[in-house]
Amino acid sequence: MPILFQSTNSHSKPVSFKTALLSGLAPDKGLFLPTEYPVFSNKLIRDFHRMSYPELACSLLYPFLSDDITEQECFHLAERAYDFEVPLERIDGNRYLLRLDRGPTHSFKDFGARMMALLMAHVRQNESGKLRILTATSGDTGGAIASAFLNMDNIEVVVLFPRDEISNQQRKQMTTLGKNIRSIAIEGKFDDCQALVKQAFADPDLASLNLSSANSINIGRLLPQSVYYFWAFTRTALSQGKPVIFSIPSGNFGNACGCLIAKRMGLPVSKLVLSTNSNDSFPRFLKTGIYRKTEPSIHCISSAMNVGHPSNLARIITLYGGAMDEEGNLLRKPDFDSMIRDIFSVSISEEETRKTIHRFFREFGIILEPHGAVGMAGLEHFLAEESREPEQGHQMISLETAHPAKFPEEIRKILSLEPDKPESFVEQERENEVFEVMDRKYQTFKEYLLNNK
Ligand SMILES: *Cc1c(COP(=O)(O)O)cnc(C)c1O
Repeated sequence: MPILFQSTNSHSKPVSFKTALLSGLAPDKGLFLPTEYPVFSNKLIRDFHRMSYPELACSLLYPFLSDDITEQECFHLAERAYDFEVPLERIDGNRYLLRLDRGPTHSFKDFGARMMALLMAHVRQNESGKLRILTATSGDTGGAIASAFLNMDNIEVVVLFPRDEISNQQRKQMTTLGKNIRSIAIEGKFDDCQALVKQAFADPDLASLNLSSANSINIGRLLPQSVYYFWAFTRTALSQGKPVIFSIPSGNFGNACGCLIAKRMGLPVSKLVLSTNSNDSFPRFLKTGIYRKTEPSIHCISSAMNVGHPSNLARIITLYGGAMDEEGNLLRKPDFDSMIRDIFSVSISEEETRKTIHRFFREFGIILEPHGAVGMAGLEHFLAEESREPEQGHQMISLETAHPAKFPEEIRKILSLEPDKPESFVEQERENEVFEVMDRKYQTFKEYLLNNK
């Protein structure tokens, strides 16, 4: 029996992977989660260390996809998606840094976006007509999505970004690609971009355009984010069945959900340390049991985590037996005791983020970027507040979710040095940019879509 996918609002019937992938959001506005999880034994997990990253990805993901793809095809997609390194660096003792910054756009979002794009193209291979992916971005997502769908047949991507609120480097990741990728600079904020995209999806006049979304809540992006936890576990020297602690800098909590799913699949994770920047809705919720959005969201240097109402919270609560609607109303309480046993969460200030970057460079010669520094600082809080050394042999793995060269101004200010640029950034600087500039009126956007079929 294939695994089905159920909405966190659970008012609609479970659907196949293909349906969940192509629709993104459930009809009742909930988020899809698998109805069951394949469980891998300790012995199988130990054997994973012989596998390449694509082989591992295929072994873990195939059980979720089996109705829509053969194992061989799944492996070929994973090979195309993961043609870059996933290094695990030892910091000291049992402490490691997992670098998820080697993909084409140098943020961890490449892991989900690339596999999702290939899966979408795969399940639509016999369908005629063009699929149009509309996506709004505040920075990293647009680049990862654009790069993932570049050159795909019968799929076109339109990215909307706030003209004055993204970095040059982030903009260039979208506007220099050309081909099936179009970018629009909106004279407004991220919220305006998101509102335009939402309105277009709901507009019956645009039904013939076959619009689809690729935002961060798509199950096709979430499941691949469970793979690197297994990968990191099997790469550490001490992986002989001893549990592991993962520290995950979090904004929308999709990365964290990937880890919770890995845990369901048998990975012995003894603790998830989930750190936020000053947008602290989640740590406050875990402490008080009361959920309040942070409105408006607070601007921090770890900008990809400036999220006042994390959309994946509904998934975490569902995984612990509760229910939360899309507005953030807690409809059924989750099992708080289990949640607190599994998860430690803390909010890290801007000052502490900067100090952590400074200290890690001084002590270890490691350049962290602002998101990775929030994760690392969170791990130190966990160790200090629990006032214990983790038991013998427990490994601690903190995630670096972006490349330091994406934040050159901040790194320059804190460390007085210039982070090495990946080759692709240098090439991009020479490329020509092409993008439209548009006001934030829906009518303008709608006409553009209709005139550019
Ligand atoms: C998106 C992003 C995050 C936050 O990940 P979530 O899954 O939204 O919690 C952290 N770091 C970087 C660099 C990101 O781009």
